Amino acid sequence: MFSKILIANRGEIACRIARTARRLGIRTVAVHSEADASARHVRLADEAVAIGPAPAKASYLNGRAIVAAAQLTGCEAIHPGYGFLSENAGFAEACTRAGLVFVGPPAAAIRSMGSKSEAKRLMERAGVPIVAGYHGEAQDEATLAAEAARIGYPVLVKASAGGGGKGMRVATGPSELGAALASARREAESAFGDGKLLLEKYLERPRHIEIQIFCDRHGNAVHLFERDCSIQRRHQKVIEEAPAPGLDSAQRARMGEAALTAARAIGYEGAGTVEFIVAADGTFHFMEMNTRLQVEHPVTEMITGQDLVEWQLRVAAGETLPLAQDRLAISGHAFEARLYAEDPARDFLPATGTLAHLQFPAEGRHLRIDTGVEEGDKVSVHYDPMLAKLIVWDETREAARQRLVDALGACEIAGVATNLAFLGAVAAHPAFAAAEIDTGFIERHRADLLPDARPAPDRIAALACLALVLERARAAQSALWRAGERQTDGTFAGSADPRSPWAFGDGFRLNQDGRHAVHLQDGTRRIDAVVRARPGHYVVELPGGALEVARAFAGERTIEAEIAGTRTVARAVRTEREIAIFAEGKSHRFAILDPLAVAAEAEAEGGSLRAPMPGKVVDVLVAEGARVARGTPLLILEAMKMEHTIRAPADGTVEKVKFAPGSQVEEGAELIAFRVEGETAPEEIGP
Ligand code: ADP
Ligand code: ADP
Ligand code: MG
Repeated sequence: MFSKILIANRGEIACRIARTARRLGIRTVAVHSEADASARHVRLADEAVAIGPAPAKASYLNGRAIVAAAQLTGCEAIHPGYGFLSENAGFAEACTRAGLVFVGPPAAAIRSMGSKSEAKRLMERAGVPIVAGYHGEAQDEATLAAEAARIGYPVLVKASAGGGGKGMRVATGPSELGAALASARREAESAFGDGKLLLEKYLERPRHIEIQIFCDRHGNAVHLFERDCSIQRRHQKVIEEAPAPGLDSAQRARMGEAALTAARAIGYEGAGTVEFIVAADGTFHFMEMNTRLQVEHPVTEMITGQDLVEWQLRVAAGETLPLAQDRLAISGHAFEARLYAEDPARDFLPATGTLAHLQFPAEGRHLRIDTGVEEGDKVSVHYDPMLAKLIVWDETREAARQRLVDALGACEIAGVATNLAFLGAVAAHPAFAAAEIDTGFIERHRADLLPDARPAPDRIAALACLALVLERARAAQSALWRAGERQTDGTFAGSADPRSPWAFGDGFRLNQDGRHAVHLQDGTRRIDAVVRARPGHYVVELPGGALEVARAFAGERTIEAEIAGTRTVARAVRTEREIAIFAEGKSHRFAILDPLAVAAEAEAEGGSLRAPMPGKVVDVLVAEGARVARGTPLLILEAMKMEHTIRAPADGTVEKVKFAPGSQVEEGAELIAFRVEGETAPEEIGP
């Protein structure tokens, strides 16, 4: 076994590899970008080497710097994790040339599976069933159009070099093909540096079931069963589970055999995953093979009791596989939920910001949390927005699902938009509980899953209002304290003990009439509230009616109140622009509206459309002066290696296009000046 390895990755997976290495007594070297100097993965490793500036191209994708770091620190092997250089055959070869072991398959195996087109040709020859489609060399529009017609619509356009759901577009008919090809090709070129495309029959309501395989260099090969990864958004997995619900052992054995046939056909070594798409009738077809560890590998670890990173290291060091097929068995059921910094309400757009508050439930036999971030960390545009993975295990699917619901409910995150509430809604959904899952699940149940479907209850909105008002009171009290307005016994006027949070119960001191206006935004719902402070109690007037509050106090990041006779204790975290309330196993985020600022912004903005994040304008789809209907695609922005379509917010006119294709834009930059039909002046939002 190795005595020292370099971890060529960051975040959650780098931390996870470090954890196994430590258990095995292997020393670790972390590499990091300038942005990650104090990141968790760096602190978990024994040594660390800075390899370049924040952009991945200059750091985590800088193979030369990484190999040099491994040589400098005397490592024997490099574990690439996933993403970054993990499926880069050139990097695998560079490691070998430098006398380092690349923890992964031989470069040739990476190459044959790196191109989905070539992989499908290989699998076809090896007798593995593949998805019907076109995976030829010719890429001209006429050939692709003819092939699409032959396959029959709907057709899925895929980047041959693709991964992570990028470079994929559905064309439901010939009229959509041109745009789908152009957009997939552009995204593929920018994300993978390779615009080659393939076409597949787009299957309706299939399941994604994949097989974890392992091979050593002594001719042994096993599969570690399947994972069902059908819960996806943007063609990317968000919740995975093992075993796959309803898969019988005969089918499992057939898929396992097909996966091993695929691995043998390319002389595989190490960990790999063969992904199949399973049609409603149970027939399965090869989709692609990922020649690395998979993001969702922990669910397999939970049901087999094996450590797959340990297996990888042993195989890479030349040992035989730790277990033979007949020694592997499935025990219980596991789920993994991927927690992303993203905004489900904005089509899962990646989000950035500072993790002002971050708290996960405690790990144990039933719950594992793989994460690479800590409170105070910045989520930047440079890297994948995945924050953590919550992995749960129990004897049955239902018991494990309940644990997932509980674990998600116990997470507290403020400062950055996340999919936490969305994941919670999926996990709690009756159709998910009934295992009625396929890749269309999220689309189909969208209305039940998005935050707007679940506005915060009035009691929670009242807590948010009280928290803000009490915070103002607290600020005022501490100002008084500083001003020395203290009574001789050291207490404030009107309270027995200044340290007791109950001391802040009489916020009316702030304001003559004890009336405080609070303006919040909960999803698409605006809440204009008034908190009236009376001696001994409050009244919170919400749009839906008034709530009596017998008493309320705010502590450091907590709020406690007796609302309409019921006492509630919650976490309340105030950041610059929002207040987050964590109560009763749910997160609620309210944007704080400053009425004057909102009015000023609306005035300045008119009907403009702004860049949701820094990026590059790749295409402008409309001409200035064009009248368009609501929802018409206007402009395509590429950010975080994905294309985002900026659409008309309403029926109206494109007054001015402010950037030409190729322009780099800052977050918030006005892209298009847009006049909404029939609107003359911006809507007035008064205080
Ligand atoms: P998998 O195929 O392993 O289930 P996905 O397809 O969702 O997972 O995503 C894998 C890809 O996403 C990787 O190849 C990488 O590009 C990116 N990725 C996801 N999470 C991370 C991460 N924490 N660090 C680096 N890359 C990541
Ligand atoms: P990636 O390399 O991005 O993971 P995949 O080829 O594995 O790309 O496809 C990602 C996801 O897209 C699949 O998990 C599946 O949900 C969906 N998908 C892929 N091919 C098809 C298809 N032919 N029909 C329907 N859905 C598909
Ligand atoms: Mg895939």
